[in-house]
Amino acid sequence: MNSTEMKERDQKYILGTYARNDLCIEKGSGAVCYSPEGKRYIDFSSGIGVNSLGYSDEGWVKAVSLQLQTLQHTSNLFYTGPCGELAELLIERTRFDKAFFCNSGAEANEGAIKAARKYSFLKYGAGRYEIISLQNSFHGRTLATITATGQEDYHKYFDPFVEGFSYAKAGDIEDLREKVTDKTCAVMVELVQGEGGVNTLDTGFVKAVCDLCREKDILLIVDEIQTGIGRTGKLFAYEHFGIRPDLVTVAKGLGGGLPIGGILFSEGCSHALVPGDHGTTFGGNPAVCAGAVEVMKRIDEEFLGQVAEKGALMKSEIEKMEGVSEVTGLGMMVGVSLENKDAKAVVKKALELGLVALTAKERIRLLPPLNITYEELKAGLGILAEAVKQTDSCTE
Ligand SMILES: *Cc1c(COP(=O)(O)O)cnc(C)c1O
Repeated sequence: MNSTEMKERDQKYILGTYARNDLCIEKGSGAVCYSPEGKRYIDFSSGIGVNSLGYSDEGWVKAVSLQLQTLQHTSNLFYTGPCGELAELLIERTRFDKAFFCNSGAEANEGAIKAARKYSFLKYGAGRYEIISLQNSFHGRTLATITATGQEDYHKYFDPFVEGFSYAKAGDIEDLREKVTDKTCAVMVELVQGEGGVNTLDTGFVKAVCDLCREKDILLIVDEIQTGIGRTGKLFAYEHFGIRPDLVTVAKGLGGGLPIGGILFSEGCSHALVPGDHGTTFGGNPAVCAGAVEVMKRIDEEFLGQVAEKGALMKSEIEKMEGVSEVTGLGMMVGVSLENKDAKAVVKKALELGLVALTAKERIRLLPPLNITYEELKAGLGILAEAVKQTDSCTE
């Protein structure tokens, strides 16, 4: 099937909730993917930070395939090996107390919200259920997580939303302090706001948020769905800020391409949820977890050092490009502000020239596979520079 046929069928049968780019991806290998017509693209998107080891990584494919031939699924009513191994790898490296697995980022945040509310209920009784998130944040698409998302655009059409959410200004500790009431049970943040435009929070602010949470016994939920699992050059972004969250949510890059979400619980709150409180049919699926185990094993300290190095290279190369005004983000999560050009237009031009990139608000957003080769990285950056150059400036 060629690209035109594929697009027409998609538009005829798939619900139109996505503004798709004009590209059909048929296959890929490493950081490179191909259209049905054989056109080659360097991929700086990783399927929005999901394919952390690139397309069809040999070790990952082997781990998943072997597991598929052994046991593809059972239910959470029984013990299986891969989810336990994955939890062990996550917990031993982070010194959290327990892990819970689900299937997506939004679900991970839903679970963390429930855990925070139950923790508070057990300790303080009913009514202490409010959660403060940050303006411009993104936490998912379920009813509770779009409510947690601090963007007006998301708070339309689907009323009534979930009660008990408020939004503080990122970087403004006084504003957050004012939003805290005697009903507040948690604060939820992304340390680098991804969908919100690749905005890294200020370290002083993050530390102050953490201190405030400790002072008032408010749980700090850090949404590491986009920033986690090596993306920023550390296993988790919170390590850059010198804080320890109570709950960490993960998803995207953990599975290396298969759907998974997870919550890490610190010792203080790992006893809140008990049998009957929470669960999901597919959570901890053996094949998905076998892939995630491979991802976790590959992301060792040496690998993380390379992610940091590649991130630094991206930043310095992009800063040199004419027409670029600012480079934001951490590690290989990179945002690019343009002086006088539209990010969407540059990304469209880049696609024509053979580079897959993303946007986030007014910025170009780049999330290459973490194991991209230096050669592919440099080639992709070359295409980006060319795309910026070839894109017309916005008039007025
Ligand atoms: C993608 C994302 C989510 C939602 O994850 P889904 O798997 O799409 O539900 C939540 N929070 C952050 C920070 C994300 O980047």
